Amino acid sequence: MPRRPLIAGNWKMHLSVAQAVELAEKVAEVAAGCNDRDVVIAPPFTALDAVSKAVGKTSTFIASQNVAWEKEGAFTGEISPTMLVDLGVPMAIIGHSERRQIFQESDKMVNLRVKGALANGIVPILCIGETLGQREADMTFKVLESQLAEGLEGCTSEMVGDIVVAYEPVWAIGTGKTASKEQAQEVHAYLRQFLEEKYRKDIAQKIRILYGGSVKPDNVDSLMAQPDIDGALVGGAALKFESFARIINFI
Ligand code: PEP
Repeated sequence: MPRRPLIAGNWKMHLSVAQAVELAEKVAEVAAGCNDRDVVIAPPFTALDAVSKAVGKTSTFIASQNVAWEKEGAFTGEISPTMLVDLGVPMAIIGHSERRQIFQESDKMVNLRVKGALANGIVPILCIGETLGQREADMTFKVLESQLAEGLEGCTSEMVGDIVVAYEPVWAIGTGKTASKEQAQEVHAYLRQFLEEKYRKDIAQKIRILYGGSVKPDNVDSLMAQPDIDGALVGGAALKFESFARIINFI
């Protein structure tokens, strides 16, 4: 079965509640016009409730930008998977490079978050990616393999079948530098092969692998034409309605 494309917008630490609702409503209208692809938006925590209510009955999915692993407890500053369920939020970005680099989140923590999300019916969008130094030192595949393996440690094939993976080279995030379509396809094919060896062929064929890193209206079509690129995780361009609408409507 062909994988259904998924275009996700990560709004990071931007937008007031009113601005988020306004953008979400416009995005949901565009998404409603496409029945062959999924659209996801990830507002900041402060706007999750309002955005979830605003797009609740449309085809647009909401994701949080992170999620804790426990249901409740002494975890100041964290939001639990059951709290997201309570808001009607079905997905969560986990392991974004900004979490890993700025907030020192480890693969172990990412793994706990992935398992906590899955245990509560939240679909993880697991982000992995190499830094420029790692790419230049020829360590790209080694780094990605270890981030993926550790992020999914202890997950069964059945659990893994439900996740979304986002390959986001750190050097391409917010820099305007995109991986070429050949570079991205090479990595995506490698990751799918790795998932096939570690789990099963049918599982690896089912998992959607998104590309993220300066995806824009002018490069989305060629990226999406690659056989193993199943979607995009978009930062900067997701905050501009016209740009994100064009990305959703990739050709
Ligand atoms: C991101 O934050 O996940 C991202 C890919 O950002 P940008 O599109 O701005 O590079």
